[in-house]
Amino acid sequence: LPSRVHDVYARFALETPEHPAFVEAGRSWSYRQFSEAVEAVARDLRELQVRAGDRVMVASENSVALGAILFAIGKLDAWAIAVNPRLSARELEQIRSHSGARRVLFNSSLSSEATDHAARSGAATGSIGPFGGIGVGPLNEEARAEPVEADAARQVAALMYTSGTTGAPKGVMLSHRNLLVAAKTSGVLRKTGPADRIYGVLPMSHIVGYSILLISTLMHGATLHVVSKADPAALAEAIAKDGITTLYGVPATYQRLLEYKAVKSISRLDRGRLRMMCVAGAPLDLTLKGRMEDEFGIPLLNGYGITECSPGLAGVRENRPAHDETVGPILPGVEHRIVDRNGHEVPAGSVGELHVRGPNVMLGYYRSPEQTRAAIDADGWFNTGDLARINGEGDLYIVGRTKELIIRSGFNVYPAEVEAVLNAHELVVQSAVVGRNAEGNEEVVAFVQLLPGAKIGVEELKSYSAGLLTSYKRPSEIVILDALPAASTGKILKHKLREVANGSKI
Ligand code: ATP
Repeated sequence: LPSRVHDVYARFALETPEHPAFVEAGRSWSYRQFSEAVEAVARDLRELQVRAGDRVMVASENSVALGAILFAIGKLDAWAIAVNPRLSARELEQIRSHSGARRVLFNSSLSSEATDHAARSGAATGSIGPFGGIGVGPLNEEARAEPVEADAARQVAALMYTSGTTGAPKGVMLSHRNLLVAAKTSGVLRKTGPADRIYGVLPMSHIVGYSILLISTLMHGATLHVVSKADPAALAEAIAKDGITTLYGVPATYQRLLEYKAVKSISRLDRGRLRMMCVAGAPLDLTLKGRMEDEFGIPLLNGYGITECSPGLAGVRENRPAHDETVGPILPGVEHRIVDRNGHEVPAGSVGELHVRGPNVMLGYYRSPEQTRAAIDADGWFNTGDLARINGEGDLYIVGRTKELIIRSGFNVYPAEVEAVLNAHELVVQSAVVGRNAEGNEEVVAFVQLLPGAKIGVEELKSYSAGLLTSYKRPSEIVILDALPAASTGKILKHKLREVANGSKI
């Protein structure tokens, strides 16, 4: 392994300097050009008084500029914080102040949101290295530099703020070693090599885009096709014409591709050189999986991860059976235990909370020793907060989140199971199921988004689910919404819906 995240491409910059590291809006960036760009950005950041141990925050859509800035921050031994410019001003400010960032940069060349944030922050827009349209916020004189660690397993490379689908954002400290191990495992399992062209639509401000797309692609000498805005038409075209070999998405990426195909009445999408489709981040609907696999004739591999684990924990097995509901086997190098509420291992095959240990587990939550101690025990076991079980073949099923488990009259209701039933209805786009406290008991409340123009009422949905779910799992209330509240990563904000179910206004 290289010793630092920003060293991953050094070998290719020397051995295959003209091979493309990135393709962005039709322009190719060779490994040599990218390496030079990172050097130039690092020089400029030094001029901007970024010191070792400082936190530097960057609000940018996916771009070569963002990749170069993130690596350059590492070169200065500073901590990189990439954030999605689609966050609100309040969310951005929360992260800025929590992290004590020395500088905040905004890539104004790609999105009006970043331009607005830059203006609000009083940033001066100019160039950083070869990249124009970069807003540089004022220097935070009070920022205190963290000590620099010589050991790659102790030095923080990135502070990743989770999208907060369960509450306030948390700053996950990932070391260079955490990220290098995760990027290596991902590339080895997927046999990534220089001939691969990887579609990079998942944001680099999220752990999958950062670790698996940016770092792992460059570590394996492949090419990242940088996409700043998700667009199913552009995706279909890139697969057909640009030689994309590997596609990563959240379920919505694939959902939207199929919707585009239906709207355009395309009989079959051109598969081009596509050899691998991967999905992670949220429960995957089996109907969607089946439809994508029929479309391209290759498996859609579900993987499971969490920001705190850089992120990979399970995924990738070749020759998977059709209609596979699992997220694949636990990744090599990761130890696991499935435990009950008292921390005892449950019998093989039973549901419990998944605890893991390995070199990909975060250092902790920044400035939150208590939350860190609650998440990682003295022996280094990290509690994922997910409920899971493992089948006889060693494949993992994600059953739901501990915090989302609804206990109704003593029976466990897994929201994912109820959601799967609702989602299978032809007029339902998506649904989210949460618990409502009702005098010491919990009731099941479902929020449902329908297809535009769908004519179906709450009572009809109730009797539909009653036909498919045993009584304690049936929603006591179904609420139809135009859209479900979602984080910038597309994940449904369940804590908001839980508040609504328990009496607040949306
Ligand atoms: P927070 O931790 O604040 O809720 P978040 O949801 O954005 O924020 P992430 O690290 O992005 O945090 O998401 C990790 C979670 O996503 C996992 O703990 C798990 O619940 C869910 N998840 C990830 N991949 C899958 C998958 N393939 N199937 C089902 N659930 C998944």
